[in-house]
Amino acid sequence: MSFERIAIIGLGLLGGSVGLAVQEFLPGAHTTGFDADPATRARAAARGLVAQVCESAADAVRNADLVVLCVPVGAMESAAQEIATHLPAGVVVSDVGSSKQSVADALIKALPGVAIIPAHPVAGTERSGPDAGFASLFRQRWCIITPPDRADPAQVAALSAFWEALGAKVEIMDARHHDMVLAVTSHLPHLIAYTIVGTASDLEGVTEGEVIKYSAGGFRDFTRIAASDPTMWRDVFIANKDAVLNMLQRFTEDLTALQRAIRVGDGDQLFEHFERTRAIRRSIIEEGQDDARPDFGRGDHSG
Ligand code: NAP
Repeated sequence: MSFERIAIIGLGLLGGSVGLAVQEFLPGAHTTGFDADPATRARAAARGLVAQVCESAADAVRNADLVVLCVPVGAMESAAQEIATHLPAGVVVSDVGSSKQSVADALIKALPGVAIIPAHPVAGTERSGPDAGFASLFRQRWCIITPPDRADPAQVAALSAFWEALGAKVEIMDARHHDMVLAVTSHLPHLIAYTIVGTASDLEGVTEGEVIKYSAGGFRDFTRIAASDPTMWRDVFIANKDAVLNMLQRFTEDLTALQRAIRVGDGDQLFEHFERTRAIRRSIIEEGQDDARPDFGRGDHSG
């Protein structure tokens, strides 16, 4: 089986990118879309993010064989409730949310009896909205699919093929494991970035001008992450509370150990630690998940 009528709910960065990518890489498929914000719908139509921008979620999903919910994690349940009575038989409902267990629970509750296969393309930028999306966002990025226990293997295979067609590499994972892995690779780094940028801006004795002027010393890279969408990240931290708090506890313990090494002048411990982390950076570049260039090769697209 393969999907031919794709409905996208939420036409911001992720929804817009899915729409553009489907039109470019699966040209035989028809795309419909809806966003709660009329201004976003107008921009989506102007940019051609989907073939048909609809005036209601119901209209967008009516003939779909795949629905992809691309709204903030905290809005997944209400978006699902809105389409619940309009879904055609045999449809698969998926999403792109950054946390998976709470989204799966919300979708299963809102859509009893519907085939639900959550997914998370681990691809994004700090930008949001209908002007942020681009067709190559998923190229060479992982898409983690977290099928519930009773998911139909043929539908899981079709969703995997869908993401592969958009350029992604697919991994199947348990939702709770996903949430733990992403807590450390994505959610905690965002929390740290939000914290450090806030700390710098609150510092007495260091002017804002100095913070900006000397930002190339490391701060700049944190500001890119800390510019990420506030709604999205508020929802992610609340939705993935347990895993984030668990990782934060581990992080705090490790930070305290480094703090002690600095206080007692234990250079060997610091050196050993930094050597280990440098090797991780090398592996990420070797895996093609980042670029060794000073601007991370991000250019305009992913900041
Ligand atoms: P975005 O650019 O802000 O787009 C989300 C859009 O959904 C907004 O236009 C929003 O409208 C709309 N919306 C909210 N509730 C809705 C509803 N009930 N029905 C229809 N539309 C609704 O956000 P995004 O970055 O694309 O993120 C979307 C999802 O992708 C989130 O679940 C996020 O966790 C996930 N994700 C994001 C990234 C990333 O890097 N950004 C990466 C991977 C996954 P309003 O603005 O009016 O609320």
